[in-house]
Parts: sequence; structure tokens; C-alpha cells
Amino acid sequence: MIEKDRMTEHVMDLIRINSLSKKEKDVAVKLQKEMEDLGAECFYDDAGEKVNGNVGNLIVKLEGNKSDAPPFFLSAHMDTVGPGEGIKPRIEDGIMKSDGTTILGSDDKSGVAVIVETIRALKDNGIPYGDIEIAFTICEEIGLLGAKHIDISKFKAKHGIVLDSSTPDRLVLRCPSADKMEFTVHGLEAHAGLCPENGMSAIKIASEAISKMKLGRIDDITTANIGVINGGRATNIIPKHVRIVGEARSHNEESLKAQVDHMRNCFHDAVSNYEVTIHDDLSIEGTTYIAKLDEHIERSYDRMDVDVKSLPVTLVDTAVKNLGYTIKHHTSGGGCDANYFNRMGIECVNLGTGMYELHTVNEYLIMEEFFRSADIVLESIRLNTIIPS
Ligand SMILES: [Zn+2]
Repeated sequence: MIEKDRMTEHVMDLIRINSLSKKEKDVAVKLQKEMEDLGAECFYDDAGEKVNGNVGNLIVKLEGNKSDAPPFFLSAHMDTVGPGEGIKPRIEDGIMKSDGTTILGSDDKSGVAVIVETIRALKDNGIPYGDIEIAFTICEEIGLLGAKHIDISKFKAKHGIVLDSSTPDRLVLRCPSADKMEFTVHGLEAHAGLCPENGMSAIKIASEAISKMKLGRIDDITTANIGVINGGRATNIIPKHVRIVGEARSHNEESLKAQVDHMRNCFHDAVSNYEVTIHDDLSIEGTTYIAKLDEHIERSYDRMDVDVKSLPVTLVDTAVKNLGYTIKHHTSGGGCDANYFNRMGIECVNLGTGMYELHTVNEYLIMEEFFRSADIVLESIRLNTIIPS
């Protein structure tokens, strides 16, 4: 029922349209037209204004042909990471790739294409379906910002599927909470050759903090990283400021707090070891300077943990079984728009679309898995009119 050629052509068309985060308008306009041609009602929320993008989340409502079925939610994000302009997709041996100079953008144009093909197949084949509500989101790649700012009051659906994961062999039920941390260490500037004893190197202090820090995989459910360091002006100046940005994630709030506290303590301990007293000609006691720390900790997103007995899991598991495939429930180390949707009251799982090596120029899409993903969504929507909620 899924038309593979149509689906392939569509995803390539979508991939060829540039849509870096905050610049999703061109792809949104194309999708709006396609959805309206299928008889759906489309509108945009104000998320684009909130994040300074050129378009909001595209919200699509398609009236079902079976009015007693519960409404069903679908979502995929329209934005891509870079390098993602002028992408030239090509297929070889059942695998889609870019020309190697850009990402492919199957993350998440494949998810978008799965949704559109599913709607087309529902219509073409007279399959029963309840009302379908779709969120084509913006700015997923820069912190799930479209989902964060979505106007959730526009949705009636209480369950559904997000298409934004690697393989349809896995169904993502759990994603971690994440905190972002920004630390600025303040030392004291001095000439590195003439009077280094009058300085306190912010870079050295930060290095001491980071060298004592547990990073990487902390335990089965917790990870941490320092990802950005900026600071210093010249080799002959003892650096006064350095800024460090990092993150921690966990599927358990206590573990996350413990890791964040540990990282903060490493900075506090390192900074507390540093002071310098400078004697000038006029004062006998001199002036004492102490190193200082500014810190800012912010929640990036809250974890999701969908019950294995919930309706969306039952629908997908049953669909997969009916189609003769297998699927494993999966715990992911990454966040996705579904983190927000679940918090906002739409219980949804994240199904893979066959995309791999995401966020690199080696990104590829396995076409068989891409088609299978659409088969699974189509069957899940059909089952949604049968399986009681
Ligand atoms: Zn994605």
C-alpha cells in the first residue's frame, strides 16, 4: 500500500530544500500545500516568533473517515543540522547518501516523508482512520525548541508516534532528562613574562576543575560532557576569564542532580584554591585577589518514559507483529521532541525511519527500513480504529 517510488521521490525533494534550524519556511510551505491537497487543514503556531525563526510549527489536522476512533498524533521535525545546504541525495544499492560534502538530512526529512506517505496511502486505499493531528516542528536540532514552544492546546490527540530515530528495529520509549551548565572562571590578568606572580590563570583553574571531573559515561543511565571552552587573549597574557559549557543527562533525576553537583563542586573546589596578594609601593599588606566563579545551570528537557502497556506501544507492537517484523523497546541516550509531547500530555513513542550516522557527512538512509517505517505507521493508524483505548 505504501508507494515506494512516490515516497523515494518525495523524500529526495524534501532533502533538496534547505531547512537549517530557524529557516524551515520553504519546506513548511511545500508540506502545507501537500497536506491541503490531501484535504487537511493547516496552520502555524507562534513558535517561530518565540525562537526568532522564519516560520512556526506547521500543525495539520485531517478529519478521519471513522469518527468513533480516537484522534492520532504524528510528528517529525523539519529542520536539519549543517552542513546542510545544497544537499545532493543519491541512491546506491538501496542506500541513500549525500555527495559527501553535506549531511543527508534524512534526519528528519525521512520522518516527514513517512508521515506524508502514510496519509496518502490511507486515502488511496480506503483504510479506516480516526482524526489525525500532525506537528511538523521547527528547531528540534537546537534544543527541541519547536516542541518546547508548541501550542499544545491545538491538539486533541492523547497518543501517537514521533518519527525521529534511527532504525525501525527499535521503538524508543525512554529518553533522558538533560541539564546544560555554563561556568565562567574569573582569575587575574598579568603579563606572563614580566610579572606572572601577579596573575591567576583562569584557564589553569578551569583545567584543574575539569581534570578532576567524571565525564563520559557515568553509569548505565547517566552521561556527562564538557563541550565548549572559550578564553584567553594572547600567549603573553595570563588569562583572566574562561567560559566552559557542558551538559549532563540521566534517566534518573537523582543521578542527574548528583552529576551536576559533582561538576559544580569541581569548579568550586578549584576556584577556592586560588588567591594572590599583590604588593605595590604604597601598601605594606598588599591587596589580595581571589578567583571567582559564575555558574548557570539550566534544564534543557525532561525525561520521557512511556509505559510498555500504554496504547501507542501496544499499537506499534501489534502493527509490527501483523506485518511479520520484529521490534525491540529501546532506551535512548538522546532527547527528542517526544520528550516535550509526553510531558504535555500526548503519550508518544519514537519510531526509527532507517537513518544512520546522523549529524555527519556520512549520514545514510536504508530504503528498506524507511519503507518499513511507513508500513508500521499505516498499520498502527488502522489498528487505532480497532484497539480500544
Ligand atoms: Zn532528528
